Amino acid sequence: MRKLEQLSFDNSYARLPASFYRRLDPTPMPAPYLVSFNADAAALLDLDPAEATRAEFAEYFIGNRLLPGSEPLAMLYAGHQFGHYVPQLGDGRAILLGEIKNRAGERWDVQLKGAGPTPFSRNSDGRAVLRSSIREYLCSEAMHGLGIPSTRALCIVGSDEEVYRETIETAAVLTRLAPSHVRFGSFEVFYYNDRHESLPVLADYVIAGHFPHLADAPDKYVRFLNEVVARTAQLMARWQAVGFSHGVMNTDNMSILGLTFDYGPFGFMDAYDPAYVCNHSDHHGRYAYREQPKIGHWNLSCLAQALLPIMPVEAAQAALDAYIPTYKEYYKECMGRKLGLTQAGEEDIALVETLLQLMHASHLDYTRLFRALSRFQCAAGDKNAMLRDQFTDRDAFDAWADSYRARLQREPGNDAERAARMNRVNPKYILRNYLAQNAIARAAQERDFTEVERLQELLRHPFDEHPEMESYAAPPPDWARQIEVSCSS
Ligand code: AMP
Ligand code: MG
Repeated sequence: MRKLEQLSFDNSYARLPASFYRRLDPTPMPAPYLVSFNADAAALLDLDPAEATRAEFAEYFIGNRLLPGSEPLAMLYAGHQFGHYVPQLGDGRAILLGEIKNRAGERWDVQLKGAGPTPFSRNSDGRAVLRSSIREYLCSEAMHGLGIPSTRALCIVGSDEEVYRETIETAAVLTRLAPSHVRFGSFEVFYYNDRHESLPVLADYVIAGHFPHLADAPDKYVRFLNEVVARTAQLMARWQAVGFSHGVMNTDNMSILGLTFDYGPFGFMDAYDPAYVCNHSDHHGRYAYREQPKIGHWNLSCLAQALLPIMPVEAAQAALDAYIPTYKEYYKECMGRKLGLTQAGEEDIALVETLLQLMHASHLDYTRLFRALSRFQCAAGDKNAMLRDQFTDRDAFDAWADSYRARLQREPGNDAERAARMNRVNPKYILRNYLAQNAIARAAQERDFTEVERLQELLRHPFDEHPEMESYAAPPPDWARQIEVSCSS
């Protein structure tokens, strides 16, 4: 385990052409204090968790001191935001300190989000508020706990510096870790700015670091695109399966590695509603829950367009054409597992869809209903009253239950074995907005971070029973309906 000053930096992005980024240091902030530290993420860097107790820790991770070996920079990128191309975005408030190569040979970008203005800030302040930093911190780790690819979060350091949003809030810096922060928009910027010679440079960089098995293939760029398509399709299926909405699926927030990336106004659905829109600013529902898989495809087509100078158009089209079947396959697999099916077939999708329709009609909580479904009893004559009574249309439930029971006859094992299998994929605990909101209120108003810690600990193991935390699995309270999350962060 290493001390802070011994972290092993190897900054490959900083060795790319200087036009790919701007070098700059974070802007200092007064009186930093540690809000939360994540030992799981520290382990990825070989960082000794005891280092978090040093006074210097907060200084390093708010950007007041530079870690030896870091070479801070803001990455250049562009992106399609809500369907419109925005030529030059770039890290407006995030600063990449560099990459740490751990003893396992993995590379982790270490990025300070909210570290001050950069040349890409476009008149904004370069800061992030404590509220949104806590949301990203908790959700990225919650996604990891759910087994869904995501960026990670090492810590949050707060400051008293005031930040102006709808109200006055205080600033914080989130330290984000990812194998790479390259986005679809990192390619788009070169395509649209007629810097096509930079496209193979960036593609080779990503391939060498993250798809090394493709490096010697003659059609490496096409195969790279194929993999991004597959990873994105898989990610969309996994989001659907846990009822997650990202909220701002702009191409600058789409990870080239298929990670859940850049947490803003995200949300987990409470009652099942395919039209669920988590972002209060998304008036047209572009990024509604049910739209996400399509948007994944749309975003990939922006990426493919940007890669056209380095691949034949037919190959790019073929890569894109694989998206829908790949997505459908993953979706079937994910949803089949939620029903306890070891091997879901085409015909099982009807079972899923009917159940979802019934849930929608009865306004049932998505997470709680799937969790409860593990208690379904196969025995003929068992009415499964505990489930049945939740549905407004009992006859429709009975009909569904008959087909489900018939389908389960073809599955191995008994009810208990199936229940155990289902409880490993249907989480009991998710980061509902109101849970995050409670943790934020305490942190912001009382500087009490115990609720952040408690949620972080709980959501590391969302599939386990935590009897002392039962209330965290309850349906949301009425006041939760008034919570509005927007792009403001
Ligand atoms: P987001 O919607 O958080 O992904 O942000 C979109 C773009 O706006 C990115 O290029 C960010 O770097 C930039 N941005 C967001 N908030 C700020 C801020 N407070 N200061 C500077 N740039 C920002
Ligand atoms: Mg972003």
